[in-house]
Amino acid sequence: MYSSDFLIVGGGIVGATISLELRRRYPESTIAILEKENQLGSHSSTNNSGVIHSGIYYDPDSVKARVCKIGAEKMIEFHEEHNLPLKKIGKILVCTNHNQVNQIDLLLERAKKNKIEAYEIDREKLKEMDPEVNSVGGRGIYVPITSVGAPKAVMDTINKILIDKKIKIFTNTEIKDKSSANQVSSKDGSKFNYGFLINTSGNYSDVISNKFDVGQEYTILPFRGLYWELSKNSGIKVNHLIYPVPDLRFPFLGIHTTSSIDGKLYLGPTASFGFGREHYRGMKGINLLEALNNLKYSGMQFIKNHDGFRNLALKEILRLSKIGFAKEARKMLPNLKYNMLIPSNKAGIRAQIFDKSKGRLVNDFLAVKRDNSLHILNSISPAWTCSFEMSKFICREYIEA
Ligand SMILES: Cc1cc2nc3c(=O)[nH]c(=O)nc-3n(C[C@H](O)[C@H](O)[C@H](O)COP(=O)(O)OP(=O)(O)OC[C@H]3O[C@@H](n4cnc5c(N)ncnc54)[C@H](O)[C@@H]3O)c2cc1C
Repeated sequence: MYSSDFLIVGGGIVGATISLELRRRYPESTIAILEKENQLGSHSSTNNSGVIHSGIYYDPDSVKARVCKIGAEKMIEFHEEHNLPLKKIGKILVCTNHNQVNQIDLLLERAKKNKIEAYEIDREKLKEMDPEVNSVGGRGIYVPITSVGAPKAVMDTINKILIDKKIKIFTNTEIKDKSSANQVSSKDGSKFNYGFLINTSGNYSDVISNKFDVGQEYTILPFRGLYWELSKNSGIKVNHLIYPVPDLRFPFLGIHTTSSIDGKLYLGPTASFGFGREHYRGMKGINLLEALNNLKYSGMQFIKNHDGFRNLALKEILRLSKIGFAKEARKMLPNLKYNMLIPSNKAGIRAQIFDKSKGRLVNDFLAVKRDNSLHILNSISPAWTCSFEMSKFICREYIEA
């Protein structure tokens, strides 16, 4: 049996950065991370777009807005301090339909409130900055701070720091049950005692929280994010990250370009139906019970059509085919042809929380504390960007308090 003051269940970026923040605040404490895979960050924290977001999108009253701007600065600093690959490329938001044109004003307003440097650009400026890119109506927004980082290198670097800071890491350790008030047990029967437990298990955070009688009104709906790669021979060059103006009712940003640090240009991610919480591609990861749960609640949203979910779902179904995807991407990149898209293995799964009582997807980060446990339930994008600041926020608001 192992005992520690703080026990973190789930070793992605959120669990890892919270552990570092706890070490900073409580230098004498014992801290351990339990991770079911054979290395930290095997899921969302390394299978994402790697974009360091500015925070322009978020409602100024949200937790996302509170932690994103500083989180992004800290993530950039972390890359620089450890010499990790980083592209300070900037982002341009463009309209892919006429309904989005008015959203530009709302986003500029949010940028102002969230203190994010952002500039409106017109057709001429867009042509000058990114000649291949189109915006319906001609308006766009330039956000200079948005960058592309290296999620795998970040995770590997943090892993070394955790070891240096005497934070114990148990890999291949899947938590299955809460055995008593201060104890959880793993699949192989090992027992772990704790003073305070933090559940940062991403796609299984609801399953773990339910063992603590927390969050029964929530369930994770796994949305798969699939990417296509733009062929090197396409002749299409983009100088910035190109994003569509998103539908702010949903926590998805739409198909965008990602100029990754390995020199490839990706387009994606989709928000496709996941047949399991770890169903990345093909048959691997399909889980019948998880698929049925997803079908039940996605179906419910489709019928109730909250926030226009039906339209979103239908669009996503069309994007599943290469033809549909290319058609969508062409709205931003008019010269893009079907045969310029090549399949890629890049895929990730969003740990998206659905509120069963309200019948809606939850947009903001969500944390619930009960007794000596804390559950991070909706660590969706931009949790990777925010992680260093989010961990401070969590320790201050939920643990110290
Ligand atoms: C397609 C996609 C693109 C994205 N793009 C961006 C982006 O560009 N920028 C950005 O800021 N964010 C992005 N995100 C979001 C970001 O990746 C996540 O918000 C972030 O990685 C969440 O980190 P996490 O630590 O909560 O989750 P994870 O990294 O998933 O970590 C959870 C860990 O818990 C472990 N675990 C689960 N169950 C158990 C158990 N029972 N016992 C022990 N361990 C367990 C898992 O194995 C996993 O390692 C993207 C996400 C996706 C899916």
